[in-house]
Amino acid sequence: MTRELELLDRVESGQPMAHADWLWLLEHRETMDRPALYDRARAVREREFGFGIHTRGLIEISSFCKNDCYYCGLRRSNAHASRYRLTKEQILDCCETGWKLGFRTFVLQGGEDAYYTDERMCDIVSEIHRRYPEAAITLSLGERSEESYRRLKEAGADRYLLRHETATDAHYRMLHPPELSLAHRKECLFTLKRLGYQVGAGFMVGSPGQTNADLARDFQFLDELQPQMIGIGSFVPHHDTPFAQKPGGTVEDTLFCLALLRLRFPKVLLPATTALGTIDPKGRERGILAGANVVMPNLSPVDTRKQYELYDNKICTGEEAAESRAALEARMQAIGCHLTVDRGDAPGFEAGGF
Ligand code: SAH
Ligand code: SF4
Repeated sequence: MTRELELLDRVESGQPMAHADWLWLLEHRETMDRPALYDRARAVREREFGFGIHTRGLIEISSFCKNDCYYCGLRRSNAHASRYRLTKEQILDCCETGWKLGFRTFVLQGGEDAYYTDERMCDIVSEIHRRYPEAAITLSLGERSEESYRRLKEAGADRYLLRHETATDAHYRMLHPPELSLAHRKECLFTLKRLGYQVGAGFMVGSPGQTNADLARDFQFLDELQPQMIGIGSFVPHHDTPFAQKPGGTVEDTLFCLALLRLRFPKVLLPATTALGTIDPKGRERGILAGANVVMPNLSPVDTRKQYELYDNKICTGEEAAESRAALEARMQAIGCHLTVDRGDAPGFEAGGF
């Protein structure tokens, strides 16, 4: 058997993968039979999930951020960023629209905005939980204290998305100012897991300075963390950041990583992200065909969408929520899939919320 097939079998078998094993795959990706790999990953998705694609309604609650990540358009040093935050009523309106459209997961995402104290956030989460007890609530609000994560969980949050961004210290320091650390990011992820959240980690593909060795460590870290969700998307430069002139990640590299992740983590919830749809008009479809099984259309109010500008040319900023869902439904049907109306929990967490 070729080294390629031997290693892919190893990935899929769940047996330990050394750094050198991941590295070999990453270094040989240009010459590998990638269409065959994508088909193989897609077959795993079909075996585990059929043709149903889970949807999450994304509500971008704030474009204020106290952090200064070098890659992100919302970083505090970006004086050109236009800032807004949604009120509790606006967030509840988004949920109402979403519920009617068939969303059974609401993802509240934002910059690290001190306005959303534990008290305010718990009030919002518990009200969503009270109104929609059958919906799952996902938070993506960055690094908070253990106490904060605990209180939010008690208020009704089920899941938390916190990409680790890169599992290599030196690379983490290239992407972030000194006050942010990989150690703390990882600590937050392990805390969230311990508190009983369904946890999502992940990274950008093609972020500035990223090497194959760094990516191999990302796979190793995911093996260690065993998250329920993995969010990966291509790095897309933003014109008002220090990385404005850096090249973005490629579609092929992102698809390659998605496929490897599906093989390694057959049951993981793996979105075909907006970033992938931004760099390729068929990016999300291609992501699904390479093993992804989640899409996250936007439920944010149309008038704030453009302001939540993590990177340039973000798609779907002008659409109503209903249009976004309908358009995605059509795209999924065109590739033989359909959107589901369910919470789409990770295995073992299905009873949550009732
Ligand atoms: N503030 C929270 C959530 C919002 S940012 C947090 O940082 O966790 C959500 C994700 O957007 C980040 O994890 C990052 O991976 C991604 N992101 C930020 N800037 C990006 C860019 N320029 N290209 C692609 N993804 C980006
Ligand atoms: Fe803030 Fe998140 Fe952007 Fe970093 S990636 S600047 S934490 S919104």
